[in-house]
Amino acid sequence: MRLFLALIPPPGLRKRLGALADIAHARCGGRRMPDASLHLTLAFLGEVEEARAAELAAWVRGLAIAPGVWRLDRWGSFRRPGIVWVGGDEGEAALGRLQGGLWSSLESLGLGERPARFMPHVTLLRRAAVDDLENMPAIDLSWSYNQLELIQSTLDERGARYRRLAVSQG
Ligand code: ATP
Ligand code: MG
Repeated sequence: MRLFLALIPPPGLRKRLGALADIAHARCGGRRMPDASLHLTLAFLGEVEEARAAELAAWVRGLAIAPGVWRLDRWGSFRRPGIVWVGGDEGEAALGRLQGGLWSSLESLGLGERPARFMPHVTLLRRAAVDDLENMPAIDLSWSYNQLELIQSTLDERGARYRRLAVSQG
């Protein structure tokens, strides 16, 4: 099964991110991420066998992560897949430490492949016209996190569907 580790926004922040997705969608088109799917990917694992996934879920349930605050104040894009995202510098270093520590554990569990770089972002749109991202409204949101989730992604023609498999200690 296709798995990844992510932070999931609390409900209030999810709504605000959804409102930004609507604004961006009106401007840039493309495929808007449903509110329920908004997330920050910390580690993409790709295909994992069911037995290994169960081990991973058990590990996640016992995990306690360092809580942090990530300030979201910036629009950004990835040109080739037409991704429009939001992110921010403040709190990014702590996310990098979290991501780095996770990959050290994942490597010792023999899972996945540590990416060359980590660029924390929350995807709002895919296959959008990223050239239209000028003069977007200012963003100032705060994401307080203390838990991560193990999520299964099932790909279908409408895009990915996510299912939570495990949550870390809160
Ligand atoms: P879709 O592929 O239908 O557009 P999706 O990208 O949300 O949807 P997945 O491809 O299952 O669904 O990806 C789950 C999460 O992992 C997303 O945040 C995605 O950006 C990230 N991801 C996917 N593939 C990789 C990869 N090769 N390296 C790093 N992150 C990835
Ligand atoms: Mg994808």
